[in-house]
Amino acid sequence: MKNTVLILGLATVLSGALPVQAKLNVVATLPDFASIAQAVGGDKVKITSIARGTEDQHFVDARPSFVRVLNQADVLIEGGAELEIGWLPPLVNGARNGKILSDAPGHLILSRGIRLLEVPTSPVDRSMGDVHPFGNPHFTLDPANGKIIADNIA
Ligand SMILES: [Zn+2]
Repeated sequence: MKNTVLILGLATVLSGALPVQAKLNVVATLPDFASIAQAVGGDKVKITSIARGTEDQHFVDARPSFVRVLNQADVLIEGGAELEIGWLPPLVNGARNGKILSDAPGHLILSRGIRLLEVPTSPVDRSMGDVHPFGNPHFTLDPANGKIIADNIA
């Protein structure tokens, strides 16, 4: 009985002394990326998506609350290929978080691991309408890219 009490007491002391592993705070630009990151990270990550699934991915409303969210982020996941160019850079700059600056290890640009389709073979400009100068950034429409995205996030 004495040993049981001692062991229980020791277990209580040790469990209180062990640091609780904080979750990795991951912010994704789009819900597609957030969903895959959640599947990869499980209970080790806290995921926030900036855009909603109903929003045009090119024209997301850059609300000031996103600056606060990005200020607390450990990792930022974006699609890249200029998909978020109209709204993400001011949010990242405003967040003043060195972990997610464009050249930081915590800033993951998923298009870098994807072979993009529809890459223009001649110069493009705005007079041509909504063209994607680095290729089609809507690569989550191909389910096969989901595995590549998951590997890159992991
Ligand atoms: Zn587009």
